Amino acid sequence: MRNKIGIIGGGQLGRMLSLAAKPLGFEIIILDPQENCPAAQVADKHIVASFKDKKPVLQLAEEVDYLTYEIESANTEALEEIYNSHTSTGNVMVFPLPKSLDMINDKFLQKELLKKYKIPVSHCAPINSRKDILDFAHMYSYPFMLKARLNAYDGRGNALITCAGDIDRALINLGASKSSGSSLDKVFDFDFSNLYLEAHVNFAKELAIVAARDQEGNFQAYPIVETIQSNNICHFVTAPALVFNTVEDEIHIIAKKIGEILEYVGVFAVEFFLTDSGQVLVNEIAPRVHNSGHFTIEACKTSQFEQHIRAITGIPLGKTDLISPATMVNLLGDSHAPLNIYGRDQLLSMENTYLHIYGKDSCKPERKMGHITCLDSSLQQAFENAKRAKDIIKLNSHEDH
Ligand code: ATP
Ligand code: MG
Repeated sequence: MRNKIGIIGGGQLGRMLSLAAKPLGFEIIILDPQENCPAAQVADKHIVASFKDKKPVLQLAEEVDYLTYEIESANTEALEEIYNSHTSTGNVMVFPLPKSLDMINDKFLQKELLKKYKIPVSHCAPINSRKDILDFAHMYSYPFMLKARLNAYDGRGNALITCAGDIDRALINLGASKSSGSSLDKVFDFDFSNLYLEAHVNFAKELAIVAARDQEGNFQAYPIVETIQSNNICHFVTAPALVFNTVEDEIHIIAKKIGEILEYVGVFAVEFFLTDSGQVLVNEIAPRVHNSGHFTIEACKTSQFEQHIRAITGIPLGKTDLISPATMVNLLGDSHAPLNIYGRDQLLSMENTYLHIYGKDSCKPERKMGHITCLDSSLQQAFENAKRAKDIIKLNSHEDH
């Protein structure tokens, strides 16, 4: 019986995938360099090694029937090799296909791919010199975004450029400086190869859709959600998003088309900007379960995590219907401190309120430590409850809580 799933990456997404796979009878092996990482705490086995290296990925493949990942930075070369060959245990099924990941893990090439298929995105351009940045400013005016092409998450690869004076600091912050030190007095020599430029979108709302595609190409989408970010990081997700049917239809068509273009198998998310005039632009595709789908654990008939396990192991996809309106709120660290949870009793005395702590041992500013989902028959009330819930729970060691 094919029963063992290997997950590359051991963060909260790997943890929630494991928690969904276990009741279905699967065994889980995690590959992650960090001892006692969130997923390893709930999995059957943990290989403590880097997933960026080829050898540990190949070792994981020797031990499992299915291989999947929770991070985009997996070693795609190793995934390709496993996909193309047999291991001693038989054929390992690698989903999503390595080529799907390959098509989109460079954010700039992802935008080019979307443009090729006439899927609307904001203007963007590669950079080879400082002049390219100034030319872009001339063409699209300030402000605009300077973004990392690879390995960006939670807004950490993004910088907003509001005037020419912001450029050097942003290049340094995004790690493009080839000189040592960070003093702006020095003449900097920059490496632009991991960066690209993107016009700033003056959006009315940010929306996202989580969808699944199985090995036969069957497609199931979850209700569209509104995501609320501050400082480039997601704070709240409300489901369902209140949008016109035309917007909803367009988003469904785009998500389905993206699934087909990527020949995708598994769960993926697409983030969108919705402008005042009702125009929908794709912000980015995430080839994995996603923060904007955490609400599905309690609010939908099948969670995004179970759905991913179903898709990659060939179990028919589950229903994605919304059971109740919901708001999810991320619990972010606010300082460097050991994790201490305050207010849990009071929080859990709130009805229809669900706490998920990820098992990270220490907080860092803006690090995702957990989330709370509040359900209510009124969407507005679910949002109010989530705001209250967030104020009740405290994750750091403040004596006054
Ligand atoms: P995550 O991992 O949370 O998805 P990320 O690091 O991949 O984040 P992006 O999705 O590119 O980063 O950007 C994070 C947020 O920054 C967006 O949700 C949005 O609020 C803002 N942002 C990014 N690009 C633009 C843009 N072109 N115009 C306006 N706002 C933007
Ligand atoms: Mg994003």
